[in-house]
Amino acid sequence: MHIDARALPDGSLLEGDLCIIGAGAAGISIAREWIGSSQKVLLLEGGGFQYEPAMQDLYRGAIVGLPYYPLQAARLHQFGGTTGHWAGFCSTLDPIDFEKRDWVPHSGWPMRREDLDPFYARAQPLLELGPYQYSAADWQRRDTTMVPLPLDPRVMWTKMWQFSPPTRFGLRYRAAIVGARNIHLYTHANVCELEANEPVSAVEGLRIRTLDGKEHRARARAYVLACCSIQNARLLLASNRRAANGLGNAHDTVGRFFMEHIEMPCGHFALAPSHAAYMKMYTLDFGKTKVRGEMALSGAVQREHQILNGTVSLEPGGLDEAAKSTFEAMTPDVLDSFRNRHERDSAAPAPAEQVDTAAAEPRFFHLLTRLEQAPNPESRVMLGAERDALGMPRVTLDWRLTDLERRSFRVIYEVVGRELGRAGAGRVQLLDWVRRDDGPWPSNLSGGWHHMGTTRMHEDPRNGVVDSNCRVHGLANLYVAGSSVYTTAGAANPTLTLVAMSLRLSDHLKSKLS
Ligand SMILES: Cc1cc2nc3c(=O)[nH]c(=O)nc-3n(C[C@H](O)[C@H](O)[C@H](O)COP(=O)(O)OP(=O)(O)OC[C@H]3O[C@@H](n4cnc5c(N)ncnc54)[C@H](O)[C@@H]3O)c2cc1C
Repeated sequence: MHIDARALPDGSLLEGDLCIIGAGAAGISIAREWIGSSQKVLLLEGGGFQYEPAMQDLYRGAIVGLPYYPLQAARLHQFGGTTGHWAGFCSTLDPIDFEKRDWVPHSGWPMRREDLDPFYARAQPLLELGPYQYSAADWQRRDTTMVPLPLDPRVMWTKMWQFSPPTRFGLRYRAAIVGARNIHLYTHANVCELEANEPVSAVEGLRIRTLDGKEHRARARAYVLACCSIQNARLLLASNRRAANGLGNAHDTVGRFFMEHIEMPCGHFALAPSHAAYMKMYTLDFGKTKVRGEMALSGAVQREHQILNGTVSLEPGGLDEAAKSTFEAMTPDVLDSFRNRHERDSAAPAPAEQVDTAAAEPRFFHLLTRLEQAPNPESRVMLGAERDALGMPRVTLDWRLTDLERRSFRVIYEVVGRELGRAGAGRVQLLDWVRRDDGPWPSNLSGGWHHMGTTRMHEDPRNGVVDSNCRVHGLANLYVAGSSVYTTAGAANPTLTLVAMSLRLSDHLKSKLS
């Protein structure tokens, strides 16, 4: 059922078994799991069903450190959350992302990739994705004309992605949530404070405010914070009535380790015509194909070069004449094959039988990289001095990168360039900044609109905010859902994994509350 919190008498008390704060991808994924159960679920959503400028303004904050998108534009504050804006590009984290990597400070999740497999499989239909298949071989079996480039698997592999329509959770799941008798959805119900008990060992209630000046309270047996990374940290930090540094923050970990994916154009690729037919696996035809591959470096190469995980995608695009002439100057071998498009580059390994190389056109691509950000305690969300219309402190984001990201960009492209050349697939030309490890980031430095970290998972409370069950250390009944719990970011976009982890958390809560 649905209740607008503005219509309740001031000072109302809402009571349930489970209380979920935030109805975005994480919150709705959990709430759906409880439809029809004997438990009463409160789903508290700050926004309404539509975009409201005054609501969106509650997200406004300051940016210090590296430049970043305006915070009020980077997340949506309404039912369905930021899935109202997302692009639907999905893949899984890789096994290496969960490992402790000696060269990546603060890496190592207290869980393994295989622990998530059953939940990834359950998350696929929620995001209206295809079967749980993310290996190139799976897709080649379905479509024999999709053949990965003949790259050395010890060096590079093809990471597969699937595309959600994209699922807008607010539209897709509204009827199911509102129609469920045991799910009590409250809109315009902004949670402003989590109230801890006297010994600060559990949450005993929530303080809710509406923009028209009402204040209500909510109580439940267990609480899930699902407001996305920046707002999750903000709420914990602002809940400082009984714990001066905020809840879950005895060791000054809340808000730290904010991570993004660094998504940057890095160069160009001139594809040898002999290899053009391989592109079916790497270029996306929106509306027709729902999958595509990206090039990624093997775990062994990441280990050898001590670099971060990242992918390289081929974005079709013409080059201006100057760039083309640079290619001409540097790649006579490729040019030769351009002149005689039916002639195969003799150095290239023979393509698979089913790849038709005859009618290939020479083509140019932009190379775009999606790199994980190394976990960094100095990259953080803090409370600022200014307050919003509900009296909550606004946030300050201090986004910081390290030398490791910079070096990883360079090394990834050295390896990719060498391997594509060796395979006779074409030639790579890098942008100047990618060749250097030092100097400032280019002015087009950009994140992928992915917010991670801030309540990271670690078994040791001194190094993380939640345990492997997503429970906040030291608080018996407070859990966190969403990518704020990620220990490391991996190269994959976050939403599929956060939905999978939300389902895992939901199962855990059922075992506790039933
Ligand atoms: C432009 C853009 C493109 C993107 N593309 C992709 C993509 O291709 N692939 C991908 O994997 N990800 C993508 N993302 C990221 C994706 O949108 C997020 O990972 C996802 O929405 C996060 O889900 P969430 O539930 O944690 O947070 P959200 O979806 O942001 O939901 C949080 C919810 O909490 C509510 N809330 C906040 N504060 C309070 C409060 N105090 N009280 C009550 N309720 C509150 C909000 O209103 C909202 O409904 C993209 C994001 C953007 C902006």
